[in-house]
Amino acid sequence: MLTLSLARVRTVHERFDRTYQPDVFVEDRETFTVTDPVRLGFDLSKDDERFHLVGQVQTAVELSCSRCLEPFRMPLDVPFDLRYQPRRAAADAVEREVQEDDFSAAFYDDEAIDLGQLMRERLYLAVPMKPLCTDACRGLCPQCGTNWNKGSCGCAQDWEDPRFATLRTLRDSERNDH
Ligand SMILES: [Zn+2]
Ligand SMILES: [Zn+2]
Repeated sequence: MLTLSLARVRTVHERFDRTYQPDVFVEDRETFTVTDPVRLGFDLSKDDERFHLVGQVQTAVELSCSRCLEPFRMPLDVPFDLRYQPRRAAADAVEREVQEDDFSAAFYDDEAIDLGQLMRERLYLAVPMKPLCTDACRGLCPQCGTNWNKGSCGCAQDWEDPRFATLRTLRDSERNDH
């Protein structure tokens, strides 16, 4: 279901549109949880044994905010442009060396492209290293763990904006002058 059998590709250009249910991606829950159906769409061009896929993966994932640790939903629309060739053709050492620097190079085995792997890799690349629920997320109090997006805590009073501290120093020195 998650593989594209290349024997079925009979014309030079074809269009593919598929929708997969989120439960296909359950094994990726360590990093993110896919919450919405995954829409995969691409144009395929065939050149002998080489296949060029240009399209996008669209879905939404649930992530944990790196500041406040709350789960939040992030829609993803990830474009891709990949050139597939049979893995055995890449066994040539010189050719492989060239392709390691080419991020569009991909390989297939057994006359089939693994669409599950394609989608998974695109989603991994699209998920931020330090996800934030909002850019303005205020995070957790380092002392008591209160989520500052939801409320304040007593500890916050101990913290002083350095700009106010400078102002007070100025004010104090003025007072001393008089
Ligand atoms: Zn947050
Ligand atoms: Zn606190």
